[in-house]
Amino acid sequence: MSTLRFRVVETAFKKKAMPVSIPEERPSKYYGKYVFNREKMFKYLPTDVYAKLVDVMDNGASLDRSVADEVAAGMKKWAIELGVTHYTHWFQPLTDGTAEKHDAFVEHDGKGGMMEEFSGKLLVQQEPDASSFPNGGIRNTFEARGYSAWDPSSPVFVVDDTLCIPTVFIAYTGESLDYKAPLLKALSAVNKAAVDVCHYFNPDVKKVMAYLGWEQEYFLVDEGLYAARPDLLLTGRTLMGHEASKNQQLEDHYFAHIPTRVAAFMKDLEIQALELGIPVKTRHNEVAPNQFELAPIFEECNLAVDHNMLIMALMRKVARSHGFRVLLHEKPFKGINGSGKHNNWSLGTDTGILLMAPGKTAEDNLRFITFIVNTLMAVYHHNGLLKASIMSATNAHRLGANEAPPAIISSFLGSQLTEALDRLEESTDEALSSLSGKHGMKLDIPQIPELLIDNTDRNRTSPFAFTGNRFEFRAVGSEANCASAMIALNSAVADQLITFKSDVDALIAAGDDKMAAILKVLRKYTKECKPIRFDGNGYSDEWKEEAAKRGLDCETSCPIIFDNYLSPESVAMFERVGVMTKVELEARNEVKWETYTKKIQIEARVLGDLAMNHIIPVATAYQSRLIDNVFKMRQLFPTDKAEELSIENTKLIEEISQRTIFITNHVRAMVDARKVANKIESEREKAIAYHDTIAPMLEEIRYHIDKLELIVDNEMWTLPKYRELLFIR
Ligand code: ADP
Ligand code: MG
Repeated sequence: MSTLRFRVVETAFKKKAMPVSIPEERPSKYYGKYVFNREKMFKYLPTDVYAKLVDVMDNGASLDRSVADEVAAGMKKWAIELGVTHYTHWFQPLTDGTAEKHDAFVEHDGKGGMMEEFSGKLLVQQEPDASSFPNGGIRNTFEARGYSAWDPSSPVFVVDDTLCIPTVFIAYTGESLDYKAPLLKALSAVNKAAVDVCHYFNPDVKKVMAYLGWEQEYFLVDEGLYAARPDLLLTGRTLMGHEASKNQQLEDHYFAHIPTRVAAFMKDLEIQALELGIPVKTRHNEVAPNQFELAPIFEECNLAVDHNMLIMALMRKVARSHGFRVLLHEKPFKGINGSGKHNNWSLGTDTGILLMAPGKTAEDNLRFITFIVNTLMAVYHHNGLLKASIMSATNAHRLGANEAPPAIISSFLGSQLTEALDRLEESTDEALSSLSGKHGMKLDIPQIPELLIDNTDRNRTSPFAFTGNRFEFRAVGSEANCASAMIALNSAVADQLITFKSDVDALIAAGDDKMAAILKVLRKYTKECKPIRFDGNGYSDEWKEEAAKRGLDCETSCPIIFDNYLSPESVAMFERVGVMTKVELEARNEVKWETYTKKIQIEARVLGDLAMNHIIPVATAYQSRLIDNVFKMRQLFPTDKAEELSIENTKLIEEISQRTIFITNHVRAMVDARKVANKIESEREKAIAYHDTIAPMLEEIRYHIDKLELIVDNEMWTLPKYRELLFIR
């Protein structure tokens, strides 16, 4: 009957691998080829302009118009030499992608001809008519004025024929409409707060950077098979499909040999990423079949976020030229692991110190403990908010399932750091005072360093694990913009460091020695934030009970988790550090709820269509064949004998009827439930209705479809099955 599925499967499995392309030059030669980096700035800009631009980039100095004009002229010259014809402001609206609107360099030359034009004004600020981006009601559409403004801390780059200028996207009235604007504010807040704290230890520190190293997980599927799965195409995940008999039980995919077709894709991707200045370094097979991971060397957080957005776009493009589609959805397939994006985060100084790394001296280690404990305090006080920052309709499938971080934020420290904190907690005032003074200080922490690196990271279930010189926030979704998590984390840490400084200063003012004051405050904090520390199995049911007792946020409903953004503590924190106002937070939550609803709504529609157009007709056709067989049996054999021989087929006929009736009824009920939910005015309540009533129906319908897949004649089944989608040859 259905030959389509067989044709696409056959073509997919017969595909020849493209050869792995090996460029003649070494990576160090083509790294950053398409980036207007410092080397090119130096070459294409007058010396004084270069110096001014560096000051803007490094120290946030303001950019005056004449400098902007000269910078634009240099950029244009460089870009035109690369064959570039267009430019675009490249920004990150509140969708999970990036946005761009291309304009050509052309302008009338006044003599009837054309000339290439690109001024400082066009570089620095634009007003894209971007009224259709989600803004949560901040902009009235009739007055759709959103501005994009250049972010000089992230270098411009060239993709194909277009010069891309990283920008923030803000409303006419100043509110942020994107991810980058609040991220830059959060990074600036954490810089200032951390520098102040660093001055207790080293007066020379002028700047503290937040670093981010993301690890991007993804799936690859054959393009032909993907095209034959409308659910993958329209929702990014399979809404139905029975597990393959073999999937990840043998763990034979993890770190295994990379299939040649995939290796060719990876190589191409790496070359293009390096040309765009993305320092990709690591690649390997992941746990699930067809699942892979890519990680760069960590970078300054804002740049790392841009690079992650850029690489996701690049992956989609390069995959297609290798006959693949890349799936960035957090849970494309039921029953096997989903994809995340671990966010490795740390703080470091302009003097070259990683603040989350232990050092050689006792003083270094006090600095180390200071930043660790303050981070734990921030994570403790804002654990619900951090969960909200990584939550989405798609990531919800992953969290809490038995494979990924649980839907409760806690932090794993490893035994040695735990011991050090326990000792601090138990120490007496006298002991702490006797430790003070440069020479007398000894907290038994100096021995930490070497061992620490080896002994951390043993707990894969922890959503926020200390891994030697950084924290690894593992709950971030594979499809997400890392900025969301980084805004929440850096803001919370900035706020916490400010509190720390004022607590320490108060003790110093009351007569304490500096080191004793720091130790006393840290001791108090260590006790206070203890509930966030958990080194056990995050997947266990006992932990859920225990976490609730500890007062950690255990909510699992995505729309309700978003409420954390609007709690009085979150609003006050974001306002104190100057990252977002209440108005912005409210608007952004409207967007979150609306997006949640739309995603479930689309899934419900797609599932309804597939159920009615593919599943029911195929199941019924197969059932008719069985009925035909039963009838013919009766002609061939005496009635009793025929009944005996047809007993299994008769059962199947019944089962198919029961399942198709269930499916049809529930598809109808789902339509009715949507009609009811759609009438709800409040975006929050609507999202809750979609979560509580419609999302569970998707699962119930799927259950029966998957059962049908097991009994219906394989030859008649139209949709590619898991065993076909998941094993690249
Ligand atoms: P894992 O063992 O978790 O698979 P890796 O050791 O390869 O991973 O590191 C994962 C990521 O963490 C990489 O992007 C790496 O550059 C980054 N990373 C390493 N040290 C730091 C740090 N101090 N701050 C931020 N990111 C870091
Ligand atoms: Mg990791």
